[in-house]
Amino acid sequence: TAADPHQGGPVRSTCPYCGVGCGVLLRPDGAGGLGVEGDPDHPANRGRLCSKGLALAETIGLDDRLLAPRVDGHDTDWDTALPHVADRFRETIAEHGPDSVAFYVSGQMLTEDYYVANKLMKGFIGSANIDTNSRLCMASTVAGHKRAFGTDTVPGTYDDLDQADLIVLTGSNLAWCHPVLHQRILAARKRRGTKIVVIDPRRTATCDAADLHLALAPGSDVALFNGLLAAIHDQGAVDRDYARHVDGLDAALAAAGSDRPEHLTGLPAAELQRFYDLWIRTDKVVTVFSQGVNQSSSGTDKVNAILNGHLATGRIGRPGMGPFSVTGQPNAMGGREVGGLANQLACHLDIENPDHRRAVREFWGAPAIAATPGLKAVDMFRAVGRGEIKALWIIHSNPAVTMPDADAVRAAIAGCDFVAVSDVTANTDTARLAHVLLPAAAWGEKDGTVTNSDRTISRQRAALPPPGQARPDWQIIAGVARRMGWRDAFDYTAPVEIFREYAGLSRISGLMGRDFDISGLATLRDIDYAAMAPVRWPVTAQRQGGRFFADGRFFTETGRANMLPVRHRAPAANPDRRHPYRLNTGRLRDQWHTMTRSAKSPRLSAHRPEPFCEIHPEDATALGIAPAGLVELSSPHGRAILRALITTDVGKGELFAPMHWTGETAPSARIDALVAPATDPVSGQPESKAAVVAARPYAAT
Ligand code: SF4
Repeated sequence: TAADPHQGGPVRSTCPYCGVGCGVLLRPDGAGGLGVEGDPDHPANRGRLCSKGLALAETIGLDDRLLAPRVDGHDTDWDTALPHVADRFRETIAEHGPDSVAFYVSGQMLTEDYYVANKLMKGFIGSANIDTNSRLCMASTVAGHKRAFGTDTVPGTYDDLDQADLIVLTGSNLAWCHPVLHQRILAARKRRGTKIVVIDPRRTATCDAADLHLALAPGSDVALFNGLLAAIHDQGAVDRDYARHVDGLDAALAAAGSDRPEHLTGLPAAELQRFYDLWIRTDKVVTVFSQGVNQSSSGTDKVNAILNGHLATGRIGRPGMGPFSVTGQPNAMGGREVGGLANQLACHLDIENPDHRRAVREFWGAPAIAATPGLKAVDMFRAVGRGEIKALWIIHSNPAVTMPDADAVRAAIAGCDFVAVSDVTANTDTARLAHVLLPAAAWGEKDGTVTNSDRTISRQRAALPPPGQARPDWQIIAGVARRMGWRDAFDYTAPVEIFREYAGLSRISGLMGRDFDISGLATLRDIDYAAMAPVRWPVTAQRQGGRFFADGRFFTETGRANMLPVRHRAPAANPDRRHPYRLNTGRLRDQWHTMTRSAKSPRLSAHRPEPFCEIHPEDATALGIAPAGLVELSSPHGRAILRALITTDVGKGELFAPMHWTGETAPSARIDALVAPATDPVSGQPESKAAVVAARPYAAT
């Protein structure tokens, strides 16, 4: 339970950085500071924290906080700002229709905040133009799960990582991006000798503990996993008994047999065979995947190629085995649960299904319900640039830096008729473009829930009061909704009321036969929210906290899983004479997003103090780039200047650069300015790891 800090006990909360969702104990020091330590009782971390979690106390200062609403550059109060935002949205909708407005939200938001934003846009404004920066994180997994399972259901739990005999980490630098989960894997290896295989074009910190590192050619994951499926078939390892729970096995096998993995992955046949043999002869296999798989123009196919191997062998839904997606953001999963993506309704209901739409509309008592999916992130900002979106509300995100083709996105936001930004600071590239700034409560000051990568719902709790006029997001969004005329539907006074409403809606979803049918979330309606301990859904008596699909029942119409016939597709752009290098982007161990929080910690900033570009020694020599010299990268979309880090961790012809740094004027270190806005045709997720660029030494003039 949450202790009362006023009685000297710690406040139990959750780390706001990544999808591992570690529990933390917060101790206010009475002078605006916090003591932070790992919660030994939280099932995700059992007391462990990584470097970012341990530095949380250093990142809560008030130095650059936005403390008052700001309209057209002038500080004001909520009674001025909220009607102003409501009027601008109402007028725009009246003149141009509901699809002329959009919300761009964030996996940093709490589930209650996400729920209210989604309800306002889809049920009351009547558009589905609400998308999230989680589109850049795990949309391909959502789409892959839905194609295979019928719903976006995560099959396994973190406990499976403790019980596996083989863990395959593909497109996942877990040691840096989900460190506590990586520590769990290392502990399991020590205990039971778990084998670890890393599949990544780049040699990362995660490879240090790997038994095998497969440095495949960028974008060739489908070919590699198709090779696995073909080997499963060739070695007679298809589970013929489990196959009655699966549709599409033969078609998937036929497609898999058509790809040539040695040719497409560039890996020696013996290395591939070693991996395939290890996978096939090990019963308890977990395949962990994240952005390296998702952030691709064939990301959904990659996800399904991974799921195919587990479905063909029945290695799903049982302890120590299954495909396992880990999310980047702390509440990417909670956002998925309440319909935070433009193509879904809350509680895993489908926007294209008229029965689902009717049920949600009736539950909300809404005047409208979006009838078609809204614009996904990349298309949303394109529509902003074309002037079709005329009023935009960005909440806890910095798309002027993080979207692909970031310079064009920045120009689109700058040219939009009306932009409101809710954030904890005015000091982001995006906030500086806003007409209205809305001061939001920060982590440590707000209450609500988040869901981590294994479906565990944890409380975030306030241990400090919000400074100045800062408010929780649900309160800001509901305040605008009420001033747009929807008083009763947004008359919330506390996040617990929103959580109860969401839990009630999950029951409707259950009646529709979705995975929320057995989530049991409806039973949480009456939970003691103040004292709520972490709880992993499903929470029904039969399935408490467990795995899905052990019984071979899926949420498709047939009740069987779908194996998808997928074929290798090269990344959207291929290196050529003008842009001969393949650029991979990613995260660092000690920074988070665009560094608005993590850069406040000198300890974290000391890890990698400046932006850099990893380049192979042969490429550096050919280009005349000296160690620690500056390198200029350019693509058809933008330029960046970075410190050269010459290393064999990247292959010849490949570059890697972190995505955290910002910059006002081009060229800067904003690496996403170089990335093309190519997307996966199913998920809409951008291809952030396979841009093509030119490189040359940079000499300041
Ligand atoms: Fe926070 Fe993730 Fe580190 Fe856990 S692993 S302490 S959730 S950043």
